[in-house]
Amino acid sequence: MSNRSPKLDVVAVGAHPDDVEIACGGTLARLVAQGYRVGIVDLTDGEPTPGSPGPETRLAEARQAAEVLGVHERVVLDLPNRRLFDGFEARVALAKQLRRFRPRIVIGFGAKTPMASPDHWQAMLITDAAVFYSRLSKWDEYFGGLAPHAVAAQLYFRLAFEPPVLSGFASHFTIDISTTLDKKLAAIRCYQSQFPPAKEYVFDRIRGAAMLAGGSAGFQAGEVFVAARSLGAQDLVKTVLGEA
Ligand SMILES: [Zn+2]
Repeated sequence: MSNRSPKLDVVAVGAHPDDVEIACGGTLARLVAQGYRVGIVDLTDGEPTPGSPGPETRLAEARQAAEVLGVHERVVLDLPNRRLFDGFEARVALAKQLRRFRPRIVIGFGAKTPMASPDHWQAMLITDAAVFYSRLSKWDEYFGGLAPHAVAAQLYFRLAFEPPVLSGFASHFTIDISTTLDKKLAAIRCYQSQFPPAKEYVFDRIRGAAMLAGGSAGFQAGEVFVAARSLGAQDLVKTVLGEA
């Protein structure tokens, strides 16, 4: 079908450009280095925000950050920042992107982010629904003729500053980002409008969170994910020793 794009292995979904970099930028950069095809979908352009002159600046920052990570696709949807709500249009807008890119794995928000934007929680609801909508048959009229696509697995990420455990989920695991932590930080630094010199402390926090997460798994740095369903494994030894 003509409006389909080349397939991606993994799509990460954020509410605002910079969410995905902060949550799992090290893992995305590592996936790219491992040869997987990776994309990012931001549900909004993240604007307005206090330090940014306008959406063009934020979009340029997002493009630059995607280049640093090396991801193959980045789509910024035009859902409204600060007024992002789970609803039919938002679900369909994201599900169209999933039908377009046909990822095997979708990664997105997995919890509330108290004291930060409530858009994040709405993004989780939208992502859950879009993963489901993506595979529904006999509904093509809502998806611009894009055929259904069943996403094989869904993962949740955390922003760097939340507690390390997402309650209610059985399967937490840590990805080693020792070799890509610097790339993650460099990608976040692309957002100069969000992290000016007065907010330099943010980079210490993000680095600290990655080192804490990694250290608990025996890595120099890591990012924690949660599987929406319990993770299974075929080889106990390789899985437990991190060789799988
Ligand atoms: Zn955000």
